[in-house]
Amino acid sequence: MAKVSRAHLVIRHKALECIGCCVCEETIPQYFQMDENGMAQLLDGTREGVFFRAQGLKMDAADIKAAVDGCPVDIIRVDVS
Ligand code: SF4
Repeated sequence: MAKVSRAHLVIRHKALECIGCCVCEETIPQYFQMDENGMAQLLDGTREGVFFRAQGLKMDAADIKAAVDGCPVDIIRVDVS
């Protein structure tokens, strides 16, 4: 039987530095949505210092990485936990 990894991804977003370009929402709308002020919010994010933090699914890793790479101000991080 194939071994199933229980590792998940941790997404971090430095929301205060967002410039509202919408790339993250367009790339991974299941994790980011623009708020009423036109800034991105990490869905179900909890505050962790200057970042908001939420879990991501490994199956979404490529799309999350695309959002990380696409953010013009480099304020999205993703790590395996
Ligand atoms: S890609 Fe970066 S700058 Fe653009 S909306 Fe998302 S967090 Fe903000």
